[in-house]
Amino acid sequence: MLKIRVKEYESLRQHGEETYPHECCGVLLGQIDDDGVRTVTSVARAGNTRTDSAHNRYNIDPKDLIRIQREGRRRGEDIIGFYHSHPDHPAQWSPTDFAEAHWLGCSYVITSVAKGKATVTNSFLLAGKTEEDKRFEQETIHVENAPGEPTDQALQEITSTKDQR
Ligand SMILES: [Zn+2]
Repeated sequence: MLKIRVKEYESLRQHGEETYPHECCGVLLGQIDDDGVRTVTSVARAGNTRTDSAHNRYNIDPKDLIRIQREGRRRGEDIIGFYHSHPDHPAQWSPTDFAEAHWLGCSYVITSVAKGKATVTNSFLLAGKTEEDKRFEQETIHVENAPGEPTDQALQEITSTKDQR
């Protein structure tokens, strides 16, 4: 399960809207507890180095990644996942996403952005012990306002506000 607050959740979804029709990408920082529950405490936006084909490829600039990791550690946060968007494509991983995913134990969050609007967001845990037996397992995203506070209602409010726009 991936726990994320509304603020961070909306931030990564909005990022995909802002870069549409190109893919956005970024990093999820936080903690993984002993039960395997992953809690996002911040998200860091990254530049997409794949300017040649930015609508269906993403690659986080290694310099960005090192900086994000260093800044996170200073705050006691680890890299626990990555996110990117799929402009006008479903929120499902592609063969390329799988081939290029190497951080075992990390979450890969994908948001579908349809005609510029973020729709479905899914998260896939890169399970397995080695590169050879790695696999993506879909995991639940639990969106919350504050630690321990369930926010299904808050989410519904966000959704309905958007509908009224
Ligand atoms: Zn992808």
